[in-house]
Amino acid sequence: MTSSEPCFIADRMLGRLARYLRLMGYDVSYPPSTSDAHLIAMARAEGRVLLTRDHGISLREGPRAGAPVVIEIRSSQILHQLRQLVQEGWVTRFLEPRCPVCNARLKAMEEWEARHLLPPYTLATQESFNFCRSCNCVLWEGSHWKDFRARIAHALNPR
Ligand SMILES: [Zn+2]
Repeated sequence: MTSSEPCFIADRMLGRLARYLRLMGYDVSYPPSTSDAHLIAMARAEGRVLLTRDHGISLREGPRAGAPVVIEIRSSQILHQLRQLVQEGWVTRFLEPRCPVCNARLKAMEEWEARHLLPPYTLATQESFNFCRSCNCVLWEGSHWKDFRARIAHALNPR
């Protein structure tokens, strides 16, 4: 079901966008600092859409045979960045969330499973928990992400 969704690779200027896209469920690679040529080679090899703040990359790699799809992210503001991807049709809905740190799929966790892993305050104030097997940690939706999710939902569905 998720195979029709685009996979992305984000440059080092877009760490925040990478984390939010992962929380929305998109597969986003966020490699350590590397050359433009390597970034482009990775995008091509893995069939990922390259997200960049670098106008030069998007100019050089502009649409041509054998080049990966490159999206130049125009704003430095996270909400505008996501809105650009929504408006251009790349991001259309929320998928099953991925770990913002490592990009792995998360596993939903019942409260009783999280009980011995989290402090009581967190257990009392949060309702849903996810577990990342790769990072071996529990994640929950903080108020910041809830607020953000509502704004993105609005961008996805303006009326
Ligand atoms: Zn993780």
